[in-house]
Amino acid sequence: MDYKALGFKAGLEIHQQLATSKLFCKCPSELTENYNGKFERILRPTQSELGELDKAALEEARRKKRFVYYASPSSCLVEADEEPPHEANEEAVDVALTVALLLKADIIDEIHFMRKIVIDGSNTTGFQRTALIALNGEIDGIKIETICLEEDSARKLREEGKKVEYALDRLGIPLIEIATSPDISSPQEARKIAEKIGLILRATKKVKRGIGTIRQDLNVSIREGNRVEIKGVQDLNDIPKILENEVKRQLELIEIAKKLKGVKADDIKKQEIKDVSMMFEKTQCKFIKKALKSGKVLAIKLPNFAGLIGGVKYKEHRLGKEFAVHAKIEGGGIIHSDELPAYGISENEVKEVKKILGCNEKDAFVISVGNENTAKNCLEAVKRRAMQALEGVPKEVRRALPDGFTEYMRPMPTAARMYPETDIPPIRITKERLARIRKNLPEMPEKRINRMSKEYKISYEEAKQLVYRGRDDVFEELVKKYGYERIVARILLNVMAEMEKEGYDIDIALKRVNEVLEGLNKKLFAKEAVDDLLRYLTKNPKAGLDEAIKKCKAGFMEEKEIRRIIKGIVEEKEQLIKEKKERAFSPLMGIAMKELRGKADGALVSKILKEEMEKVLHS
Ligand SMILES: [Zn+2]
Repeated sequence: MDYKALGFKAGLEIHQQLATSKLFCKCPSELTENYNGKFERILRPTQSELGELDKAALEEARRKKRFVYYASPSSCLVEADEEPPHEANEEAVDVALTVALLLKADIIDEIHFMRKIVIDGSNTTGFQRTALIALNGEIDGIKIETICLEEDSARKLREEGKKVEYALDRLGIPLIEIATSPDISSPQEARKIAEKIGLILRATKKVKRGIGTIRQDLNVSIREGNRVEIKGVQDLNDIPKILENEVKRQLELIEIAKKLKGVKADDIKKQEIKDVSMMFEKTQCKFIKKALKSGKVLAIKLPNFAGLIGGVKYKEHRLGKEFAVHAKIEGGGIIHSDELPAYGISENEVKEVKKILGCNEKDAFVISVGNENTAKNCLEAVKRRAMQALEGVPKEVRRALPDGFTEYMRPMPTAARMYPETDIPPIRITKERLARIRKNLPEMPEKRINRMSKEYKISYEEAKQLVYRGRDDVFEELVKKYGYERIVARILLNVMAEMEKEGYDIDIALKRVNEVLEGLNKKLFAKEAVDDLLRYLTKNPKAGLDEAIKKCKAGFMEEKEIRRIIKGIVEEKEQLIKEKKERAFSPLMGIAMKELRGKADGALVSKILKEEMEKVLHS
């Protein structure tokens, strides 16, 4: 795809959890399933807090939900909103300032926390606290517009009808939010910039790791499209795919808008939702039959939409999917005429519905089946979305899905969502504080990768992986103590990756590498035994190295024993040696090492094998 020609523009918003205690209380930033209480709330935005209610807030309020919160040892009265927030966590502020300096941003003089309205229930207060830390940073030619410090929201556990349940453990974990300008010009560049920012965050050694600890939001548009925000991308590698898909989706919607030229919003607005249940009295469609026992089949005509709902340019981004998500939010589902006849709905039934709705061959219809009220709400939602289709791409917030696609989440919030947080005193950033942080700035990741690969003669990729996984410190520490750069790099990257897949506890493994290397250094076993020993020590955290060596049969054999084994091999292969002379060495060495790997030093095996072969050749 020619992204330049399409006028592709993207920006990133990266949220990284910090590995400190919480932002406004002393609770640990640990997720837990260990709940010790729950309570219920209904949240409503008040006019006074909001000034003017924004679109997103209104839509949430319209959904009238009940929220249940689960308390745990990772939450206190602050998370429950029964106690005002404490002063902002100093350590978290320091990490944010460190990141700001690394990104060459201008730090503001005084930090003021603000309240940002959220009424999806993910904050017990109805707002999220956030503070601007710095502006105008830069990375790889892309401007960093803002760096903020904010509190993470509560963790959604499940949603059933109008009831939503949240865990309070995540609420209040400090988050650094980094927003770039929308000047990223391709999906690949977006991935690259996100990776670089991620490395800088990790360089502070104060960020959490693992799934869900860093979330990337993307905003993206193409020239004829519109700005769309995509929330919650968890894996860096998904970024290009998601952006590419969004471009295709926008192209599909632009194409549909072109084909709908001449249709007016009013033409759709005036369409009435009609009860077409009687057309399905004898239907073969199982779910309609079932639904008709207590519900209805409702239908609405969409003028000039025939052929446009089932996919025009990109079937996988068809308008029908958008309709379905809007209906899902209302608690129901839809079927549209582009996909019919199907599901047991006959050609004749389609004809009858068309007749009642007054459809000509250019018109489409959508039906919703089930509870009358729900079905009606579903079709109203479809109608609203169909009117937006006339304009092309609606400005909206979408959710990233694991398969690289996205789905509608809510309208784009308007800007009037912030007001000052009066419970938290402002923080003046003193020169002394900045000087202290500047003095302790970590090495920039790029520089560190280059230095490590040169200094320790490991590949650039290995150095990058060590930095990326946060094992750079462990690596340097171990290598300074024992040497064995190549072995240490292999253990920390490849062996650990294998062990992780096999289900070993990597935190324990990392702690035990030291002992293994010490044993290697004392020549207690051959380097080939390292993997087995590390596995044994990780699986048996109480076992000592001696036990591991014994159990893994990893100890060095005595030279006498080695010679006995090699002699045996040489005797068995005497014929081969006589035929091939010196060229028999390599296959025999292979056989010997297969038997002696981990129990004898390769150089010693080679020496003895040569001696024994000489004896045969000169006999
Ligand atoms: Zn707390």
